[in-house]
Amino acid sequence: MRSPFLLISSFHHHRFNLFAVRLRSTTTHAAPSRHPKLIVIMGATGAGKSRLSVDLATRFFTNSEIINSDKMQVYRGLDITTNKITTQEQQGVPHHLLGVFDPIQSVVNPLDFRTLASKRISDITSRRGLPLVVGGSNSFIYSLVSKRFNPKSDVFNGPDPGPIRSELRFKCCFIWVDVCVRVLNQYLSKRVDEMLNSGMVDELAEFFGSGEYLKVKRSGLGQAIGVPELEGYFTNVDGAKSEEVYDEGVRRIKENTCELAKRQVGKILRLKEGGWDLKRIDATEVFRTADSGGGRVAEIWEKQVVEPSVKIVNQFLEE
Ligand code: ATP
Repeated sequence: MRSPFLLISSFHHHRFNLFAVRLRSTTTHAAPSRHPKLIVIMGATGAGKSRLSVDLATRFFTNSEIINSDKMQVYRGLDITTNKITTQEQQGVPHHLLGVFDPIQSVVNPLDFRTLASKRISDITSRRGLPLVVGGSNSFIYSLVSKRFNPKSDVFNGPDPGPIRSELRFKCCFIWVDVCVRVLNQYLSKRVDEMLNSGMVDELAEFFGSGEYLKVKRSGLGQAIGVPELEGYFTNVDGAKSEEVYDEGVRRIKENTCELAKRQVGKILRLKEGGWDLKRIDATEVFRTADSGGGRVAEIWEKQVVEPSVKIVNQFLEE
């Protein structure tokens, strides 16, 4: 399956920029309030959260700044393996908490994230900007926006997860970018091959070769998908890196990526059932179209993902 985001990027945006002018909100420059407004873009890995947030920030809500809420992407290093948005893809939109922590010195937990991201939100709103929180770690999002966050109560994992609290300390607009599981899995599997071919193997070789791996093994970045799966391949002592070990590692990366996406959606559904007002945007057609040739991908992305998201955000900002 071809990457819909590459196809969208290569498309000439002129038509849509005209449309952007019509929809651009007039309410985003409001004075900072005691309950800041926050846009939260959620969804499984690969669903298009980063692309959507940059589209919103560059063409519609131009005072936006993005705060990363992916627990692996807060660390410096393994940019390809953890799928960080590139500088080029950021298109000049300020990104916070992205690749800034030394994985050897620090482990960022949900409570740390609550403190760090809150500070960024107040900085952004004091500049009269609009904060967009974007990333797949629902535990980070939950800790950030819950009114009373109890770090001892894990609301997602374990045999008896704590109850979801729906009282929030920000005015939040939650956008959930969803893609039908079968279509997403097919894309994710292809994406793993593309990542491996476009630098992930070299990046991991350096990570294991430099010994950095040993220092972060049990925490943070050492758990990023790709690291445990290819550990055997990169650390075999006799130096004979076997093709079978590699292929088995790649198979497990694909499996674990699909498993991650499934768990992320499970957590999002749990938040929805717990009373969070999540607005679901179905991006499936974008991926289906990319798979079958891609002619109208950019147009479908605009109509089915960007346009409804802009409407939702505009409505929220006017409330
Ligand atoms: P919670 O959301 O409750 O913290 P979690 O630990 O499952 O649950 P996720 O953000 O869903 O948190 O990540 C789960 C695991 O998926 C991580 O521990 C890591 O192995 C992998 N993972 C998550 N994000 C990435 C990423 N950007 N790159 C590589 N692996 C990732």
